[in-house]
Amino acid sequence: MPSPIHGPLVRLRNTPISEHPAPEHHPTSRRRLRACHECDWVMALPPLQPGQQACCIRCGGVLAKRNSLPVQRCLALAVSASIALIAAISFPFIRFSVRGIGNQIEVTQTATEMLAQHQPIVALMVLMAVFVLPALYLMAAIWVQISLLLPHRLPWSRTIARMLGHITPWMMADVFIVGTMVSLIKIAGLAEVSLGVSFWAFIAYALLLLATTLSLDSDWLWFSLSGGEPSAPEGIHTGATAASQNLAGCHTCGLIGRLDEHGHGSCERCGEKLHARKPRSLQYSWALLLTAAVLYIPANLYPIMYTTSLGSSDPNTIIGGVIYLASHGSWPVAIVIFVASVLVPIGKMLALAWLCLVAPRAPGMRSSTRTRLYRLTEFIGRWSMVDVFVVAILTALIRAGALMSVSPGPAALAFACVVILTMVAAMCFDPRLLWDEVSSAKIKGSDASIYDNQGRTP
Ligand SMILES: [Zn+2]
Ligand SMILES: [Zn+2]
Repeated sequence: MPSPIHGPLVRLRNTPISEHPAPEHHPTSRRRLRACHECDWVMALPPLQPGQQACCIRCGGVLAKRNSLPVQRCLALAVSASIALIAAISFPFIRFSVRGIGNQIEVTQTATEMLAQHQPIVALMVLMAVFVLPALYLMAAIWVQISLLLPHRLPWSRTIARMLGHITPWMMADVFIVGTMVSLIKIAGLAEVSLGVSFWAFIAYALLLLATTLSLDSDWLWFSLSGGEPSAPEGIHTGATAASQNLAGCHTCGLIGRLDEHGHGSCERCGEKLHARKPRSLQYSWALLLTAAVLYIPANLYPIMYTTSLGSSDPNTIIGGVIYLASHGSWPVAIVIFVASVLVPIGKMLALAWLCLVAPRAPGMRSSTRTRLYRLTEFIGRWSMVDVFVVAILTALIRAGALMSVSPGPAALAFACVVILTMVAAMCFDPRLLWDEVSSAKIKGSDASIYDNQGRTP
């Protein structure tokens, strides 16, 4: 029989940054229950001190983290990031000149110039990932945090708070910074380059945006938005999977909810859909992976960009670009492009395909190792956009006519689609499937042995 509720049954990571007691308005319920998003194990959360995070004892996934002054910190960072974004799009970004012919661009021209070069989908991807979605995210974060500071909640606060988690994986301002660095190194020897105010503002914006996402304490946010935590359904046991009790943890706010007989439900706190397992997870992942694999062929066969120099136009494929850079001594940039454009996409597709293949089977490898591999594929996927951003930046910047210019090739679209499709494939994959065989085997025996065997009992 699964053990009754007697928390805390989680690991605490990070020593407290403050020994002072939690603030008065701190979530202090000792019996808040969570189902791990990655392995579905049900645990009781302890009260968290600022700087601490509670991790799943089975797979190590983060269940909740506590920041000090979560509302004020997130609000201050989001406002600062918004100011930096406004500065980044208002001033000149980079100036480029060769033999007296110069060109100065603003950062948004990296998207508009792709549109002018008949690459509307790539232009849209750059615009959304670098400017529109981060701006939406910052506005949403400011709205929700102000709502928490006021005595009455602002309208649509819950809907907007739910949106935050969905936008986060698609923001790529930090990847764009790496793309800019690679572009600058690529053209450093060919022309004179000077950096504008916007360049530094953009770096500040990307770093502040990253800090804003890290400062967002979603456990605290939902606890405060709903004025506490609704009580969990009757009869939940810790030390068992949620699915075995016909329950599911909400991926947005963490609350555990009861499912209907078909394994579906909706979260009573945030309204998100609940599923015992994501419906048709493996089918969607396979379909998206196969499409990405097919598109990866033209992404490598066709040129990703054309460089025109003194009237002659040369096509550049991804691999051709890496070889060119390596042969001209630019090893660091060659390695960055090779890792981001070749190793990461291929590695990610192979890793995800393998996970899809082994998910329905009993684990030959430890499930925690498989879960770590899944986390890695989720984390690294977006960094492959570096090469697409490099093409967008060079196309906007190098426009000195027949003397020297760059235009995007068909592989840019194919490669951008590979990146997006593999990201969606990773999102469709349900990591809880990797633990199902373990769960059923252990629950049939004694659930307590899971803690004792791994030596992680708090
Ligand atoms: Zn877990
Ligand atoms: Zn929820």
